[in-house]
Amino acid sequence: MNACESLSTLGPQLAAVREQFPILAQTLRGKPLVYLDNAATTQKPLAVLDAMRAFELRDYANVHRGVHLLSQRATDAFESARAKAAAFLHAASSKEIVFVRGATEAINLVAQSFARPRLQPGDEVLVTAMEHHANIVPWQMVCEAAGAKLRVLPISDGGVLDLQALPALLTTRTRMLAVTHVSNVLGTVNDVARIVQLAHAHGVPVLVDGAQAVAHLPVDVQALGCDFYVFSGHKLYGPTGIGVLWGRAEHLAAMPPYQGGGDMIRTVSFEFTTYADPPARFEAGTPHITGAVGLAAAIDCVQSLGWDAIRAHERALLELAQNELLRIPGLRIHGTVADKIGVVSFNVEGIHAHDLGTIVDAEGVAIRAGHHCAMPLMQRYGVAAMARASLGVYNTEGDMHALVRAVRKAHAMFAA
Ligand code: PMP
Repeated sequence: MNACESLSTLGPQLAAVREQFPILAQTLRGKPLVYLDNAATTQKPLAVLDAMRAFELRDYANVHRGVHLLSQRATDAFESARAKAAAFLHAASSKEIVFVRGATEAINLVAQSFARPRLQPGDEVLVTAMEHHANIVPWQMVCEAAGAKLRVLPISDGGVLDLQALPALLTTRTRMLAVTHVSNVLGTVNDVARIVQLAHAHGVPVLVDGAQAVAHLPVDVQALGCDFYVFSGHKLYGPTGIGVLWGRAEHLAAMPPYQGGGDMIRTVSFEFTTYADPPARFEAGTPHITGAVGLAAAIDCVQSLGWDAIRAHERALLELAQNELLRIPGLRIHGTVADKIGVVSFNVEGIHAHDLGTIVDAEGVAIRAGHHCAMPLMQRYGVAAMARASLGVYNTEGDMHALVRAVRKAHAMFAA
């Protein structure tokens, strides 16, 4: 039994869930910690920390290299983490799973290795108005190198992609579409399957940024129909420095390596080098072996909680927070779709988001304030920064009340 199995119904067993996350049981600035910055990074349960420690204490060695037993054990652990990630995404094969540092590295890999060779001057790459910088800048870089153009699918005021505008933006010059599954600012869950359908009808491959999705909803890459899907371990209750690129086998097979080094080769001479098959071709150098073990444990944890329980719990908390926040005069929530996920971003008239964040922090409530690595989205909403509270499985109704109390206090300070 894995250590998270006791957590299978969130509501009544929230105390047990929280016991899995000892970091939460502390006071900061004399107040109980209320951690609401889960979209930036999630905390790790004991099951993840224990799995990593046990691996390092007993099985750690380099992978894919040694004939010795310890290396074989480490390789088995690393490869079974790959199989776990494949099952988690419903991939057809674990050969389609490339371990990377995180979502950012995965997108850069696809931009450089898949998109760059296909781009000619005048070609276009399509992104959306709600992308994180990680899903804008890598495309901008390859566009600049190739003389191609970045085009942007707009969103409504409520934070929904304008899919009516999509067909006109899918031109004969469009070579790639990159879209987030869930917005890190608005919480909108995009209709990725529909977007893929429209893009594929024009022969355009699609990369989906799953950084904000994987901790909140089940992902089936085959049902979505996309070409690439990326996520980071540290937003899924796992460690930093490990993430996943899923790519269709036929794409990965046709892509040149992204980085050169050990583990990605078949043969090397000073005259020429031949490359390993995917996924090894894209995993130059010693990987984050222990990170992969931690990621596998994190996947076990989330799955043992169950998606319905996670969804229901987070939805109830979000509704509570939003309803209470909206009673504060001058408070505006950005992103108002009914079934949004996990985040509430807001501004309060007359208070800078950074001041809001600082005052709230003094109450022990950790939220994010800033542009959330989505400067174009801030521009779209006409603000320089927003405050954002983002939820995890361990948050409580009490956390929501603490947030609202702290924001009320900020409001009162500035109104005085
Ligand atoms: N995409 C989205 C939507 C994100 O929220 C983030 C992280 N904030 C990233 C990509 C980048 O993830 P990482 O920094 O782990 O590479």
